[in-house]
Amino acid sequence: MPTRTLKPLAIALALALAQSQASAAEAARPVYDVHELDPAISACRDFNGYANGRWIAANPIPADKTRWGAFDQLREQSLDAQHKLVDAANANADKATSGSIEQKIGWLYRSGMDEATIDKAGFDPIKPDLATIARINDTAGIVAWLGDAFAKGEGQGFRFGSGTDYQDATRQIAFANQGGLGLPTPDYYSKDEHKDLRAAYLAHIAKVFALTGVSDAEAKQKADAVLAFETRLAKASLSRVELRDPKNRYRFMSFEEANKVTPHLDWNAFFKAIDVPAGNGFSLSQPKFFAEFDAMLADVPTAQWRDYLAFHAIDDASNYLSKPFQDENFAFYGQTLNGQPEQRVRWKRVLEAVNGGMGEALGQLYVKDYFPPEAKVRAQQLVDNVRNALKARIEGLDWMSDETKAKALEKWSTFLPKIGYPDKWRGWDGLAVKPDGYFANLRAANDFNNRYDLDKIGKPTDRYEWNMTPQTVNAYYSSGTNTINFPAAILQPPFFYADGDDAINYGGIGAVIGHEAGHGFDDSGSQFDGAGNNVNWWTQQDRDRFEQRTAKLAAQFDAYVPLADHPDNHVNGKLTMGENIGDLGGLNFAYDALQAADGDKPDPKIDGLSRDQRFFLSWARVWRGNIRDKAQLVLLNADPHSPAKFRAIGAPSNMPAFAAAFQCKAGDPMVRGADAKVVIW
Ligand SMILES: [Zn+2]
Repeated sequence: MPTRTLKPLAIALALALAQSQASAAEAARPVYDVHELDPAISACRDFNGYANGRWIAANPIPADKTRWGAFDQLREQSLDAQHKLVDAANANADKATSGSIEQKIGWLYRSGMDEATIDKAGFDPIKPDLATIARINDTAGIVAWLGDAFAKGEGQGFRFGSGTDYQDATRQIAFANQGGLGLPTPDYYSKDEHKDLRAAYLAHIAKVFALTGVSDAEAKQKADAVLAFETRLAKASLSRVELRDPKNRYRFMSFEEANKVTPHLDWNAFFKAIDVPAGNGFSLSQPKFFAEFDAMLADVPTAQWRDYLAFHAIDDASNYLSKPFQDENFAFYGQTLNGQPEQRVRWKRVLEAVNGGMGEALGQLYVKDYFPPEAKVRAQQLVDNVRNALKARIEGLDWMSDETKAKALEKWSTFLPKIGYPDKWRGWDGLAVKPDGYFANLRAANDFNNRYDLDKIGKPTDRYEWNMTPQTVNAYYSSGTNTINFPAAILQPPFFYADGDDAINYGGIGAVIGHEAGHGFDDSGSQFDGAGNNVNWWTQQDRDRFEQRTAKLAAQFDAYVPLADHPDNHVNGKLTMGENIGDLGGLNFAYDALQAADGDKPDPKIDGLSRDQRFFLSWARVWRGNIRDKAQLVLLNADPHSPAKFRAIGAPSNMPAFAAAFQCKAGDPMVRGADAKVVIW
């Protein structure tokens, strides 16, 4: 949900391994594999090349992927584990306890694998939706459609859901947020550099209409109408950089105030239509966007609204309709936009839908088989040690006043770390899944999950709830609950070895832990207090000093250009600010924690590598990988994370400990000069 302020570690989704052969082999060899290092490359000149170059050269991207690296490998291993779980659930579903999650997951998966039935149905599953849209004939009809659609989680044009109140984090309120675009960011609708993609999107829209029997000429007209509609929404939308400012993500107002922004959309009636108690107001988060949305309710011809709504009804459903719809969806979003040559095999695509519909239920099965209790105990120790290192660093900051430090420490003291999986699992009673009918099953799950989300509005915030499933290879910080969250699937090699070398663990999962804690103090997170409220706890002078430092870090990342063929497409230092602050802080906290744990112990070399060398190599290894140019270009615009190869070197290049570990000299590319070096936390 966009309404939550999640800070995932990486865009890489998904899942983990555990007892696969690969992980067992790695677990038995917890130190760094020196054969992966390239002695012909200097660590001080090109650390990523030294640490990862050989692996990168030997591991091209599989045809069904847009990127391939440590995260993706782990994700594949986790998918294999999940595959076993859903296969078993499917085999046992008919005799499983009626209404059990095993039965629901088994039947949901089975219905998705039944390609013959899905292909035979064509686009029948969405014909009722298209008929409803075809009957809209005026503004009142559009508004009524919005209420009905958002009640079921199928709204279009903007986003709506629950989230933590920025002013009173103890409660959940409703957020209406900008949305409604098919291209990755608003810039894609206006900038010259994206004109080819706009043309391809236009062709895609026309093809999607044509697949439903619309004539080519009419389909082309409709495509023009849809693109013009979205272009107007895009012009009124805030950029991703603007959305980093909490003020641009939250604007609480009464219903009376909100109705003044959108005179044609009565929010009291909308809340009634979606069956949510009104309370004293909600966040109409981007008023400028909603004012334009309202103007469009009044002056865009109803036929154009119908085209827009119909296109997204089909496009959103395409992956669950017959093959021609799936293929066209992949042709545009996979091939054209991201450069992916081949579609993933069926079971992986269905598994993605199972994760979308019943992710936490699948996670419940996953941790039973794949997350040993010992891993949780060891991870807890690492979390405690990294947190303590963060505390010491705050106390030792030379640029921050005691007054602000006291507030920072107060926030630190209320961090809630969560490890592995939720203490209390979500219930799935009330979700009806049948052995067949893939589309209907997914609709039922979407409706069920939407209601679960809407039902939180007006209720207390639950800090113990998770916004990521246990089988996801990722981690996140939430500023509204001040929690750091580490799903079971990331607590695996190469991030974490339950019996492994400290240096490797601190450079891997330790830095991830530090990264997430660092989000509590990044450009955005630092504007929230320990209770999760958006309040300023800084003196002006300290804030100015903080921003001087973060501006220097932004300039460092602005200078990175990932693709030689695209010299103008550099990393956006402002967009990636929070993640880069998280990395720089996180690697420093983890390094300090390693010194606190082992600094007094002997440091025998392992495979010729010192403890500090293994620490930094472990960090770099996490970020090794290849990515397709097209996918990289999209991510430069849309992803708050810097490209992995720069995450491998960015933080170390600011750390004297790195230079010392590899005996680098002043002037080496991996050693920034005293003036250029950034220390924030
Ligand atoms: Zn992050």
